[in-house]
Amino acid sequence: MAIELNSDIAIDYIREDFIQQKNIRLGLLRLDKIHPVISGNKWFKLRENIRAAQASKCTSLLTFGGAYSNHLVATAAAARAMDMTSTGMVRGLHARDHLTPTLEACLDMGMALHFVNREEYGRKDDADYLHALSLKFPAAYVIPEGGNNRYGIAGATAIAAFLPATVSHVAVAIGTGTTFAGIRKGLPNTVNMIGFPVMKGGGYLGDHISSLCETENWTLNCDFHFGGFAKHQPALISFMNDFYKAHQIPLDFVYTAKMMYGIYELIKKGAFPEGSEIIGVHTGGLQGNASVSSFLCY
Ligand SMILES: *Cc1c(COP(=O)(O)O)cnc(C)c1O
Repeated sequence: MAIELNSDIAIDYIREDFIQQKNIRLGLLRLDKIHPVISGNKWFKLRENIRAAQASKCTSLLTFGGAYSNHLVATAAAARAMDMTSTGMVRGLHARDHLTPTLEACLDMGMALHFVNREEYGRKDDADYLHALSLKFPAAYVIPEGGNNRYGIAGATAIAAFLPATVSHVAVAIGTGTTFAGIRKGLPNTVNMIGFPVMKGGGYLGDHISSLCETENWTLNCDFHFGGFAKHQPALISFMNDFYKAHQIPLDFVYTAKMMYGIYELIKKGAFPEGSEIIGVHTGGLQGNASVSSFLCY
């Protein structure tokens, strides 16, 4: 079995007077269109992991995530499409009492959910914990939270091939930094990369990303977290609605809206030289908007 993906992935260029006046081109790489559930960067991070699972004859995928995790639901969908079973280790026992739309979707796609307390969840990368899990789930191939391993990075490297040779700056919203590091590896050193961590105090990711990237031509901008991971503020929501009305492109409030807001602010501040071609990567994640849908016009 294979996963049917939309191969028609294009860049939408954003027309706004304040951008044109600075002689800048701004585009969005629409990875969100690649698949309705396994959207955006998640497919890229899963691809090589699934290959590794098959190579080691595993018939199941096991991974970790919170109650709103795009990675969890993408893993559930990918496993089902590949005729594999899947298990989700969900952070927090309370998540069991009020299933989010994300977790409902995981269950609908056949994922078995195991709710673990925060202490146990915190051991998700410990070798002895992973060994115990492999005994409990012998058929399972374990993918770390967010697909954050060398296969995830290798898969994300392929995103670079969708970017035009004329690009000068590439922007990516950052959770674990796996996607950012993968794209960095796939691009020529002459291209600048800017990452927008979506959690408060995301600067700590710098060391992790440095250890993954061979080049220095990247920066993190930690100014657009809007209160923290999966937090939002009225300014972010109205930006999403205005952006949709002007360009008919939906953004998600956890990741891509914060990145686009940040790009707009930096363009206004004159942070990019004239003649720049900036491409933001639309990493998908639109299913996460279910929890804010009453605020959105789309
Ligand atoms: C998961 C996710 C990210 C973050 O990807 P990382 O590789 O963990 O940094 C960015 N955007 C969206 C929409 C996501 O779902």
